[in-house]
Amino acid sequence: MHKAIFLDRDGTINVDTGYTYKIEDLKFEEGAVEGLKLLQGSGFKLIIVTGQSGIGRGYYTEEDYHRFMQHMRSELRRKGVNIERDYFCPHHPEKGKGKYRVDCECRKPKIRMLKMAASDFGLDLSRCWVVGDKTDDIEMGRRANCRTVLVRTGKGGKDGNFKVTPEYTADNLLDAARYIISNSKDF
Ligand SMILES: [Mg+2]
Ligand SMILES: [Zn+2]
Repeated sequence: MHKAIFLDRDGTINVDTGYTYKIEDLKFEEGAVEGLKLLQGSGFKLIIVTGQSGIGRGYYTEEDYHRFMQHMRSELRRKGVNIERDYFCPHHPEKGKGKYRVDCECRKPKIRMLKMAASDFGLDLSRCWVVGDKTDDIEMGRRANCRTVLVRTGKGGKDGNFKVTPEYTADNLLDAARYIISNSKDF
């Protein structure tokens, strides 16, 4: 069974400009690239799980999302970081337009994206970590029996959506990576 880091995207890896989708808006958070490198070097698969209700709300399209991700992936690849897969939820139960207006099972903190990744990659969720900047990320991790780290970048947990206690609160993704590596026990 493999282990992975489930990474939130906006506010965790890249600076959250608010419904980010333009490639010129890609700016990595401080420590993000270094953190990803450390985690990858410790044998974790890097998997992005991201809520993209901006698609459902009609602010940008799935194509825009994929274009941004392709750009992010290639920027990371140039720095030696490989993102294994990205999973996204384009829905919103009230604000979604047309087919996107659905009370889906993938919207955080629901855990369908993690379940899909677990089955796609043969992951042991109890050895996986969720790293994110919102309480939705931490609550999702808790529900999936993953370990959790909140980062102070982005929203820094101030969204107040869920009452949660992460295992650790990190200054940024680099700090998170150091904590994860020194607190992961492999049997
Ligand atoms: Mg975020
Ligand atoms: Zn969804």
